[in-house]
Amino acid sequence: MKTLEKELDKEGIQPIQLRVLERGQGARISVNGKKFINLSSNNYLNLINHPHVKEATKKIIDEFGVGSGAARSLTGTMALHEELEEKLAAFKRKEAALLFPTGCLANQGTIEALMNKGDIIFSDELNHASIIDGCRLSRATINIFPHKNMSDLENLLEENKNIHCRKLIVTDGVFSMNGDIAFLPKIVELGKKYGAITMVDDAHALGVLGKHGHGTVEYYDLEDKIDIEMGTLSKALGALGGFIAGSHRLRDFLFYKARPILFSTSLPPPIAAAAITSLKILEKNSGILKKLWDKVKYFKNGLNSLGFDILGSKTPIIPILIGKDKDALRMSQRLFEVGIIAPAIVYPTVPEDRSRIRVIITAAHSVADLDFCLGVLEKVGKGMRLI
Ligand SMILES: *Cc1c(COP(=O)(O)O)cnc(C)c1O
Repeated sequence: MKTLEKELDKEGIQPIQLRVLERGQGARISVNGKKFINLSSNNYLNLINHPHVKEATKKIIDEFGVGSGAARSLTGTMALHEELEEKLAAFKRKEAALLFPTGCLANQGTIEALMNKGDIIFSDELNHASIIDGCRLSRATINIFPHKNMSDLENLLEENKNIHCRKLIVTDGVFSMNGDIAFLPKIVELGKKYGAITMVDDAHALGVLGKHGHGTVEYYDLEDKIDIEMGTLSKALGALGGFIAGSHRLRDFLFYKARPILFSTSLPPPIAAAAITSLKILEKNSGILKKLWDKVKYFKNGLNSLGFDILGSKTPIIPILIGKDKDALRMSQRLFEVGIIAPAIVYPTVPEDRSRIRVIITAAHSVADLDFCLGVLEKVGKGMRLI
């Protein structure tokens, strides 16, 4: 065996077994000729399938082609990129926005560029991996506070208050494993008190939280109180790409300093067109948000009346507490057998004996889909003596 394969053998990795989707996406998907209800997609508003989004994308392909051919600072900037950035800035009530190839790279590139050795970062223990990577790449000192524990965060800030350096408090807006929401008002207050920059990753909140879907900041009525807002075009907006919204100064700085901007090709024009169209739909039609939230409420009511513990979820991400790892895995497998995709989230992603089934409700699910899922959950839950 060659050296590489010999080395990889030591890792004990299993061969990949994927659920490969056939034709079409939405509430119902088809895998290996079998039909499933998908409770594991971030397609919150079903904009992936919106006819206007599809049309706009096809039209731009005819005009511009597919790829963008270069990084932003060379010849990879098109009017579409600038239009999308202006729309995102307006949407987030910020001066400016800057696109990144993905949300992951927006977090990594921004934190790495902004923070340096000798600076201090305060990061929630459940923050997304791309925030963690950005913190590590920056070589700043990283202080991790227990999940949403604001008094521990304050203690850490207090301990470090006499060290004069750049400080950053960074948090997910909506945490993807629990469906819970960061305490942004306290983070804003602490940022101000201790002279720290504040940053929120709103990947799961854009198009979901707040009256107009602007995100966690709108949910708390804190518009323009958070210095840096990160978002993704890949979830509720149904496209691909990430962005940072903030001041003009921040945008200029990142344009010159963030490595994914300098060294990665800009977003393909059809993707930018898709995101612009999604934003327009979202801005024009608040009915689309209501459609999502009506489904979310319906499903949560159903789960509550069955007696499941959904850990106080306040978002379309709903954890159904099961307890033991093996029970959660068995539940997920049972659901799969009858045509429902809903993953088990087990230790160490969540604490021991706090394993859960995680479901995500979207505007694409029909009441009939939700009733079917509730019926199955009831049957399996009772069979396993969980409810
Ligand atoms: C999905 C996600 C990202 C990454 O976004 P992509 O655009 O898919 O790379 C970052 N942060 C959080 C919290 C996410 O859920």
